[in-house]
Amino acid sequence: MTIQKDKVASIEYTLTGDDGQVIDASNGNPLPYIHGHMNLVPGLEKELEGKAVGDKFSVVVAAAEGYGERNDEFVQVVPRSMFQGVEELSEGMHFQANGPEGEVHSVHITKIDGDDITVDGNHPLAGKDLSFDVEVVDLRDATAEELDHGHVHGEGGHQH
Ligand code: ZN
Repeated sequence: MTIQKDKVASIEYTLTGDDGQVIDASNGNPLPYIHGHMNLVPGLEKELEGKAVGDKFSVVVAAAEGYGERNDEFVQVVPRSMFQGVEELSEGMHFQANGPEGEVHSVHITKIDGDDITVDGNHPLAGKDLSFDVEVVDLRDATAEELDHGHVHGEGGHQH
C-alpha cells in the first residue's frame, strides 16, 4: 500500500524553520492525517504521495506551498477596547475574529503600545520556508465516516 487519496497515513515529523530552530515535532506521537483532504500544507502532502510505511525523507517546503506568503493587509492596529472581557493582553496571544462575511480568522497580537494593539491575521508560519524530516509509520484506508468528516478519528485524531 502506498499513500494516495483517501488513505490515512501516520507520520513522525520534525519541522524546522529557516533559522534552524525546531518549530514543531511529533516526538513519538505520530500525526495521522487523511491524504488528499488538505489536512497538511500542500508542499508536504505532495511529497508524501506514493510513499510507503518505513519511508523517510526530508523536504524544504517554500512558503507559497506551506502556510502562504505574508500579507501586510492582514496587520491592523486596533483599540484595546476591542478586547473587552479579556483580563490581560500579551504579545503572542491568539484570538478568533470574524471577517466581513462571518468567516472566522485566527489573529495574534504582535505588539502592544498603550491602547494601540497590533494584530496580525497572517498564520505565524506564513512567509517562512519549512524544513520537514518525515517518516511514514502507519498507513490504512480511511473509514467512510472519516472521509465524510474530512479528518481522522481515534488515537491522535478527533475523539467524538
Ligand atoms: Zn469527525
